[in-house]
Amino acid sequence: ASAAPPANWPSRLAQLGPAFSTALQPTPLPQPHWVAYSPAVAQALGLDPAWLGTDEALQVLTGNALLPGMKPLASVYSGHQFGVWAGQLGDGRAILLGETPQGHELQLKGSGRTPYSRGGDGRAVLRSSIREFLCSEAMHGLGIPTSRALSVTGSPAPVRRETIETAAVVARSAPSFLRFGHLEHFAARNDLVSLRQLADEVIDQHYPDCRDHPRWPGQPFAALLEAVSERTAALLAQWQAVGFCHGVMNTDNMSLLGLTLDYGPFQFLDAFDPGHICNHSDTQGRYAHNKQPNIAYWNLFCLAQALLPLIGDEDTAVAALESYKSVYPAAFEARLRAKLGWHQAVEGDTELIEGVLQLLAQNRVDYTIFWRRLSQAVAQGDFEPVRDLVLDRPAFDAWCQRYQARAPGADADLMLRSNPKFVLRNHLGELAIRQAQNHDFSGVQTLLKLLERPFEEHPGFEAYADFPPDWASSIEISCSS
Ligand code: AMP
Ligand code: MG
Ligand code: MG
Repeated sequence: ASAAPPANWPSRLAQLGPAFSTALQPTPLPQPHWVAYSPAVAQALGLDPAWLGTDEALQVLTGNALLPGMKPLASVYSGHQFGVWAGQLGDGRAILLGETPQGHELQLKGSGRTPYSRGGDGRAVLRSSIREFLCSEAMHGLGIPTSRALSVTGSPAPVRRETIETAAVVARSAPSFLRFGHLEHFAARNDLVSLRQLADEVIDQHYPDCRDHPRWPGQPFAALLEAVSERTAALLAQWQAVGFCHGVMNTDNMSLLGLTLDYGPFQFLDAFDPGHICNHSDTQGRYAHNKQPNIAYWNLFCLAQALLPLIGDEDTAVAALESYKSVYPAAFEARLRAKLGWHQAVEGDTELIEGVLQLLAQNRVDYTIFWRRLSQAVAQGDFEPVRDLVLDRPAFDAWCQRYQARAPGADADLMLRSNPKFVLRNHLGELAIRQAQNHDFSGVQTLLKLLERPFEEHPGFEAYADFPPDWASSIEISCSS
């Protein structure tokens, strides 16, 4: 027998008033079935893991039934998409079910049309739902701030994309799904009362230190802008260090809490190509891997403009953004230092960091395998396997000599917990998706198990840590989801 889920599912957003959201019901899907669920996420949400797996949970997490106390809603936001103001967007296929007792929002994605669906069908297909589920938990396993994924359920209901696919629903959670675009929305409409109400809510719930910040006396909204900038900088440093490309860094996909949100055409790099573009629809390469830190800053500038009426003057807003420019590089360097096995900064580190990244780029070395083999090299004192990865051996030897001469030397344990063995490469996701499309969900399970603990060895699963097959580079992932 499983403990009953909570009977109370409040929503702070609903309490703010009608300007922020619309109450509505999810649209049911026929014949739902489980694709995957995460007992770890259930636990983190204060739900009994045994409740997952029940028919009640299957129906609720597909949007076919509500628990007592759930008052579902869709929220409104706007945003800049691909550098252009897109006007009103909103939860077009996401529906908030409410908050758990710990204050985590539980949302269904793909549960039907909302007033913000525009031309969309409100649905999500199985392949993109599996990608979101696995990547959420992979990012969490890597220690990178992210929304979490409780479950994926599927249905035979057809969904039209480039071809006819089938519907799925992701149940996901975060302390808040508020985006830059939520604040942009009210600023663009010159609704300063709602703008202030929402910004106050964000401060009270998530950034209480901003209310009376020593660096920003009497300037809570400037303090908020700075705090969001710093969290975003820390997030981007983690993305860049692990080789993650988000793919659609529109301001409506940017979390006010500095979480990774809205998994679409994301990719973990295989070979290290700094200018890699993972989104097949991104023909200009706006969201190329090496552009992400600057795009985040551009997005923060949009947030600053939205907060400007509350901050008061431009100089203060610009000053609040300023710390991004120092926090990002410092956070990135700190991540790279850990990957190299160094606890503290030493003179000359920057050169060694730039040197290794250049080496990887020029030789198109597999990013994840390089770092893991370098960690093994330090642990075992044999650099041959990592050297084998680099075509230009003299360049590797020159770098490695300086690396090994650095004092203090590298800590192999730090490296092994900073350089994952397993990341969600496109081809791994693709194989699990093909199996799932044939009603075999074991591949999703296997990946979940590995990606929840990506720094562990998992003997017997070497194939999942290997180079991508040749066909991997022909996988095209677009915004279609
Ligand atoms: P994205 O870039 O995927 O995060 O989506 C941008 C906007 O389009 C958001 O407001 C989504 O809610 C909306 N959207 C995307 N796909 C659909 C769909 N199939 N039905 C309704 N709205 C959608
Ligand atoms: Mg989105
Ligand atoms: Mg989306």
